[in-house]
Amino acid sequence: MEFRTGPEWDERIIHLNPKEKIGVLVSSGADSTVLLNLLWTYFPNIEIRLFNVQTSEDPRKPLIENILYELDIPIQMEVVGQSRWNWPMTAHYPRLCLAFQEIRDTTNCEELYCGNILPPHPQWFPRWNPEQRGIAKRPWLTNDSFLKNPFEHLEKYHIIDLARRNNFDSIFNHTISCNISADTACGDCMGCRELEWGFDQLDHEQGTSLDEMTKEAVMKYGDIGW
Ligand SMILES: [Zn+2]
Repeated sequence: MEFRTGPEWDERIIHLNPKEKIGVLVSSGADSTVLLNLLWTYFPNIEIRLFNVQTSEDPRKPLIENILYELDIPIQMEVVGQSRWNWPMTAHYPRLCLAFQEIRDTTNCEELYCGNILPPHPQWFPRWNPEQRGIAKRPWLTNDSFLKNPFEHLEKYHIIDLARRNNFDSIFNHTISCNISADTACGDCMGCRELEWGFDQLDHEQGTSLDEMTKEAVMKYGDIGW
């Protein structure tokens, strides 16, 4: 099934063609929530299991439970990777990959859906330049018969627009995309700022005219000497 999303200056296409028994990775964030609800809504005849990788001593996730309640999805979330919950966050990426393999090797799921999107652009978010040490690089492109990343070529504004076009964007009142806090968005981390940027791109981006470009170019770079 084909879905279109994005502003008119950057419309993109995604395809979802899930097998009969799939797993979906859920955090409490916008991306995985949108992916789950599209799969749930448009593929009513498939079997969906929900997975979350444990990262704290208490595996309960009331925020995710609330999102499932709001979307009317009566599936119990399953926690995986229990033996590695206390690995430091610097080892979060290998912890995730190992948990994905565990799901592949120990469940009946034929595919595992992950809501990864493009990393934030370093020109707008210099604090989170993916070239700096310690920031895990997401794969490009995922090519695997089990792990599916249908959003990995999308920007944050495409995620917001997917929910809008499919009439469930009110769910963003219940998702938390914060990298720091699990229950109240901090407003300043990468996840929080990226979401704000996404809404801003959809609703307020005016673009730049040649005259504005030229003014800025001369003011910023006019003394360069050539
Ligand atoms: Zn935050």
